[in-house]
Amino acid sequence: MTSVLVVEDDDAIRAAVRRGLSDRGYAVAVAATGMAGLEHVIAEQPQTVLLDLGLPDVSGLTLISMIRAASAVPIIVITAQDDDPTMVKALDAGADDYVVKPFGTDQVAARIRAVLRRGGRSSDPSEPIRVGELVIDERARTASLAGDPLDLARKEFDLLLALANRAGEVVTKRELLSEVWQQAYGGADRTVDVHLSWLRRKLGETAAQPRYLISVRGVGVRLVDPGAEQAGAEGDA
Ligand code: CA
Repeated sequence: MTSVLVVEDDDAIRAAVRRGLSDRGYAVAVAATGMAGLEHVIAEQPQTVLLDLGLPDVSGLTLISMIRAASAVPIIVITAQDDDPTMVKALDAGADDYVVKPFGTDQVAARIRAVLRRGGRSSDPSEPIRVGELVIDERARTASLAGDPLDLARKEFDLLLALANRAGEVVTKRELLSEVWQQAYGGADRTVDVHLSWLRRKLGETAAQPRYLISVRGVGVRLVDPGAEQAGAEGDA
């Protein structure tokens, strides 16, 4: 049974989500405040967190960062604000996906399945990560494309690995700068862009005609399996 924590201060929404997900076979826990939610994440380690951005005690964005400091649990943000800056901030802070109020339980359940699928990749570093014809061996620090070894500089490899660990997901430049360079994002920083363009060249593709590295304007980049993309595997509108 998949365990889900719902952090939501609105009694009616919290009860409805709890009932809807319980009916669909999830083990649902609820918290009405951010701090209660954080305590639950640390103590109970749920498999997914649904998180309202407008909480009484702490901002949802702050709470995402606090949960991220303690756990890699997938976070799906519940937001009333259907505007891009809020989504970008939530994704930057470490959220994995979002639903916009009002939403149906079927949509929430589908998003939970999706984040769990994405999180189901092997995190065992002894096992190479495969994305299409790309093979990335974290332990040996080698990568190959269609069997041909890639000659990657240290940071290029780190960047590729960071993207491969979350293949299919949009990874923000802020996250990449933090994970790969251990630097805070300054907004005007070109480090990520420059290394992405070098990595692109080594993968034999261009920004205009990408195959593996798909830029998401204003948000970040995702590493995809071009074969699966062409087959229309991405169902999300
Ligand atoms: Ca709220």
